[in-house]
Amino acid sequence: MARQREDCLGLAESRGWTVTAEFIDNDLSAYSGKNRPGFTELLSGIEAREFDAVVVYHQDRLTRRPSEFEDFIDKCQRFGVKQFATVSGETDIGQGDGILVARIMAAVAANQSDASARRIRRKNDENAAAGRPHKTGQRAYGYELDRMTVVESEAAVIREAARRFLAGESLVSVVAWLQAEGIRTATGMNEWRTPTLRNLLKSPRIAGLREHRGEVVGDALWPAIITRQEHEQITARLAESAKTNRRSPRRYLLSGKVFCGACGNKMFSSPDGGRRRYGCRKGPDFGGCAKIFINAEPLEEFIVRAVLARLSSPATIDAIRNAQQPDGTGKTLSDELAGLQHKQAELMEMWTDGVITKRELIPARDKIESRIESTRRQLARLDAGTGLSQFLGDTDTVAAAWDAPDMTLQRQAAVVGAIISRVVVHPSKRVGPRVDLNRIEPEWIV
Ligand SMILES: [Zn+2]
Repeated sequence: MARQREDCLGLAESRGWTVTAEFIDNDLSAYSGKNRPGFTELLSGIEAREFDAVVVYHQDRLTRRPSEFEDFIDKCQRFGVKQFATVSGETDIGQGDGILVARIMAAVAANQSDASARRIRRKNDENAAAGRPHKTGQRAYGYELDRMTVVESEAAVIREAARRFLAGESLVSVVAWLQAEGIRTATGMNEWRTPTLRNLLKSPRIAGLREHRGEVVGDALWPAIITRQEHEQITARLAESAKTNRRSPRRYLLSGKVFCGACGNKMFSSPDGGRRRYGCRKGPDFGGCAKIFINAEPLEEFIVRAVLARLSSPATIDAIRNAQQPDGTGKTLSDELAGLQHKQAELMEMWTDGVITKRELIPARDKIESRIESTRRQLARLDAGTGLSQFLGDTDTVAAAWDAPDMTLQRQAAVVGAIISRVVVHPSKRVGPRVDLNRIEPEWIV
């Protein structure tokens, strides 16, 4: 509980938000829906316009019922709460996509509160208290699928990575070493990246500690790969560097959407002196060809103009309106998603109880996962229009909505993301400071 509160305060601080009020309900109350003075107070605070942002540890700490969650969203929208952030999931319901993700999570949380899911949670609590592993059907690096048996070759990699990191090497440099050695992650398919390595190194699991709901609850039954002291040193060093590397506010409208036309890799922010640029970058965390760079300003200006023109075209207006049909399709899909996730949980329980074998588990799990994935995609398509209604209209309406004072860069990025899936930047055929617009190739969603 104390750590959850600390994490929330840390998140607020990293966003530069001032904390004016804190609300705490005990752990079980979100299930029953009764006796939730904290939640009720939060809602009254929103109605009284006491704050314009809300931080929670995890969305399932906020509500377990979609209807409660809709209440919350509705109040946020009516009384000027623009930002909602969670420590565990990075849900931002500022606009568009975020609300969809949050709704899906509300459906999941609701599903988890039914009787059989509660039984599973109780079993998970007992397992955690006894130091037994939480079996997920996925292998964790360093251990077999049972999460008890050490894979010696991987344990050696973990020890060496920890040694290098504690000797002062950066995460990027350790990743470069892993890649040079041809070492892959637990699936055997992917190369290491710094976020994956960071998660592995700070994981209490490799120090033989059992973590449960974000907190270390005691010694685990499985063998440790690094010592507890090393674990403490690693977390301390990571916390230190997190403090100095505060996440900077978003400055690139097209982050994550620009791709290199020469090698196909994602392009990253790559400032040149004081000038903002997108660039294809080399190196362990990027893996591009470093041949293509483009000044951010003319690229963004061109894309914005193209998006706004697209938004005022009758065909787009139709497409968005059709996607917003209030025929209840979204609700059916959310229910379907909740049902599938329920089945997934049951399947894991059957495997943990030994009712089915690993050989039976894996194909069934894969099938359910692919259905979950496709339901999510359908939901996302359905919601592609959310938040776009205010942009529908003639060129002037669209331009005015875009330049409105509350259009933050984040909201603009969400609008662009609803219209364009990606932007490919091709090599330049001419030399000179002006950007050749023929190099820029947007891929449209609507
Ligand atoms: Zn490239």
